[in-house]
Amino acid sequence: MSELPENENAAKPDIETDATEAAPPEIALSPDPEIDPRNPGDSATSRGRRLVADLVAILVSGFVHLGLILLSLVIYLSVTEKEPGSGFQAGSGDIGQPLEFQSIEGLDHDLRLDNALAVDPVADGEQIERPVMVPEVTLRQPEVRPDLVGAVKPAEAKLSLEALVERQWSNSALSSRTPGMKAALLKSEGGTPDSEKAVARGLEWLAAHQQKDGSWSLSPATTCGHEVCGSVNAESAETATALALLPFFGAGHFPGEEGPYQKVIDSALTWLQSRVDKSGRVMPDNAPRHFHMYAHAIVTIALCEATALKPEGAWAPAARRASQYIVSAQNRQDGGWRYFPGQAGDTSVFGWQLMALRSARIAGMNVPKSTMTLSRRWLHNARAATDSSMFAYMPGMPATPVMTAEALLCRQLLGDAPNARGMGRGTAIVLRHLTGSFDSRNYYYWYYATQLMHNTGGKTWARWNPLIRERLVAEQVTGPAAGHASGSWQPADPSTDRWGRTGGPIMQTALGLLTLEVYYRYLPMYQVRPDLDKSEETTLERDTDD
Ligand SMILES: [Zn+2]
Repeated sequence: MSELPENENAAKPDIETDATEAAPPEIALSPDPEIDPRNPGDSATSRGRRLVADLVAILVSGFVHLGLILLSLVIYLSVTEKEPGSGFQAGSGDIGQPLEFQSIEGLDHDLRLDNALAVDPVADGEQIERPVMVPEVTLRQPEVRPDLVGAVKPAEAKLSLEALVERQWSNSALSSRTPGMKAALLKSEGGTPDSEKAVARGLEWLAAHQQKDGSWSLSPATTCGHEVCGSVNAESAETATALALLPFFGAGHFPGEEGPYQKVIDSALTWLQSRVDKSGRVMPDNAPRHFHMYAHAIVTIALCEATALKPEGAWAPAARRASQYIVSAQNRQDGGWRYFPGQAGDTSVFGWQLMALRSARIAGMNVPKSTMTLSRRWLHNARAATDSSMFAYMPGMPATPVMTAEALLCRQLLGDAPNARGMGRGTAIVLRHLTGSFDSRNYYYWYYATQLMHNTGGKTWARWNPLIRERLVAEQVTGPAAGHASGSWQPADPSTDRWGRTGGPIMQTALGLLTLEVYYRYLPMYQVRPDLDKSEETTLERDTDD
């Protein structure tokens, strides 16, 4: 794939566009990055950013192979896929059969704000009384910090949507990773001894490629000196470090605790927290500008998970600042996020911010109600089907599989039950696309889609889980022939990953690990799923009629 278009975007000078400032009811449809005047890169930093832009411009003209990391690859993906007329097929021809994504229902761009998302809210109380299927282990539940915790709603016979979200993002969410829970969930959710061995190998490989200061490079070969471990042309140590850290937490290696990775984790956190400035901003001035909110979200997730696991850690203030930065960066008109605070949103960046806010909530921090209301507004705006079963990168664009998987996961995070309008249909469409496009390696897509499928559960999960699990186990680089790369997932081996060669081996390995940790990384979102215990077709038919 050509990276030139994205590089061109990256190289654009900081020209202000009126569209952003005007905060129009219409959402800007231009695929080009837009710079927001409220960019926290104030006058003190704008010069540095302009210099960076110039430098990037030179690189673009001189070196076509200037690679972009995880963050920009996502944008590239979106830019490619969202071109009107080209549709999903043209934008990602290697993904396979587009299936339903070519037959989108009539687009509805009505921005009615009194109907923030065209889905029926979860029926009150519907899934509140269901028993928890996992052992009632609540070890290491973070202590409640009155200064950070929002108002906790009292028990009610009927829970509102907000209360449901509160419950799903509860403090105990990470207790699933404690030893007893982890073992039980691994079994009940469909993990295997082999998938766990793959996780162990991957963590070992990551640990072996940490730099002396506690950070990681997106190019691990430069750390270890073994070319086989891989490298990319761009660098974001903040992104690499956060990506590398998350699988350790996911596997139950917690900060400040004795264990094989205690030093790895603690030194990484010390480094990472130092990257959050007083305003809560993560990315340094010399980073490509459109990395900003992507990297910010990933770093925030890592710091918030660390805070949830050890609230008294020295990283907690940084986690709090970074989370507040996300809250303040949301566009107040469309409810989205993009590269810079206040900018009109896109679904890709939006999803990462919502994941980060979930982590903040798990860490006991308050996320304002208005943030959640605005988030639902964004999903309403970005839907590409009237039943909110499919989603686009931006309003008015065609639906894409990746954006649909990401947005449906966001709907789940925002409290939509599996039987909420469009959820069953959208999930089934993604599942069908996943299985139909499985020849094409796409870890970024699979990471989001696997979480969506796992939360959905039932036959949907039973269908997808063995496929993705066996595929990831098989694609891990192992054995003596792999040399120093053994334990990693590599972007070009055994085949080229859709975005991995741009994000590099740290991203590839982290996404592989996080996907294989899906069994226990979070508690199953819907503990019991009676509607999905029926046949999948029944669910589909009902939702299709919506
Ligand atoms: Zn190496």
